Amino acid sequence: MPGEVWILVESLRGQVLPTTSELLTAGRRLADAAGARLVAVHLGPGADALAPGLDGADALLAVDHPALAILNPDLWVRVLEALLAERRPRFLLMGNLGYELTADLAARLDVPCLSSCQELVLEHDTLVGTCRVYGGKLLAEVTSAAPMVLAQLLPGAFAPLPAGPAPAVEKIACPVSLEDPGTTFLGLDMPPAAEVDITAAPVLISVGRGIGAAENLTLAEDLAAALGGTLAASRPVAELGWLPKARQVGKTGQTVRPRLYLAAGISGAPEHLEGMQGAQLIIAINTDPQAPIFQVAHYGVVGDCLEILPALTAALRAAEDA
Ligand SMILES: Cc1cc2nc3c(=O)[nH]c(=O)nc-3n(C[C@H](O)[C@H](O)[C@H](O)COP(=O)(O)OP(=O)(O)OC[C@H]3O[C@@H](n4cnc5c(N)ncnc54)[C@H](O)[C@@H]3O)c2cc1C
Repeated sequence: MPGEVWILVESLRGQVLPTTSELLTAGRRLADAAGARLVAVHLGPGADALAPGLDGADALLAVDHPALAILNPDLWVRVLEALLAERRPRFLLMGNLGYELTADLAARLDVPCLSSCQELVLEHDTLVGTCRVYGGKLLAEVTSAAPMVLAQLLPGAFAPLPAGPAPAVEKIACPVSLEDPGTTFLGLDMPPAAEVDITAAPVLISVGRGIGAAENLTLAEDLAAALGGTLAASRPVAELGWLPKARQVGKTGQTVRPRLYLAAGISGAPEHLEGMQGAQLIIAINTDPQAPIFQVAHYGVVGDCLEILPALTAALRAAEDA
């Protein structure tokens, strides 16, 4: 309905994904500012069954169809285009799915879209987004007062929404034909199950190329053991095979939000920051005082991680023994 704020639910195998809760946070803020309803839109078979995982939305619009079980962009765009054209919400917020859908939908509906938003506010009926451009090297303030705006939010940029009442469910039939998709879904390749889930770890000791060699990882492992933490890595460390891919943090790895993220020998490339900037406390160790990681770190040490990691471990152990 006009004025509503919509978010597109992200789920996999019947589970609501954490990015959905971040969308609910951003959506709730906009809906409260606009005095509007917050509506979660979910496409897929049994779409209404996820209502208990969507606390904080006022309503769940569930489009139940087996062909929507997995993201087939061609079909999802068809359905969303029809829903948006018919119901004219004020905003539709998307997360990871937005990378695939936002531009196509905006072009079809001839409405503006904001991409890679790390902040979204409503100022005097104008949507103001802080958006990453040029691979995260610059932040652009983008505004739109259009009657309908689509926005793609950066995963990890918004805190999850605290639990609230479950939404009212509106189950609707698929509004368009899903015959003759332009693309055919062949199968879903899931990465092998990780031996640990770094997204659930409260303390992460994350190592980058600056650790120098696989054998130096023991320095980070020792500190992780002393702190009750878990090892994570930047992409080069995973690509070199020093740690499994499941430990990679960043754009093409995991989005983490631990209580403590200690980055050792990580430069802080935008693609890495995307996955860890939501950490409550960030500590960086880097030999280069100009390393971008220091721009997001709460505490920083300019120095050699091969010296500082064992020194930290020794200090913690000494404190335990005292
Ligand atoms: C499409 C795309 C997706 C990507 N996805 C990801 C992703 O998901 N995750 C990710 O991490 N990257 C990703 N990248 C790669 C990213 O751009 C960077 O190349 C990568 O993050 C750099 O990793 P690094 O910081 O470990 O290495 P480097 O950039 O090489 O930095 C090493 C750092 O270690 C410091 N250093 C060296 N020796 C020491 C020492 N002894 N003690 C302390 N500091 C030291 C150096 O000063 C330097 O700052 C992606 C890139 C692209 C294009």
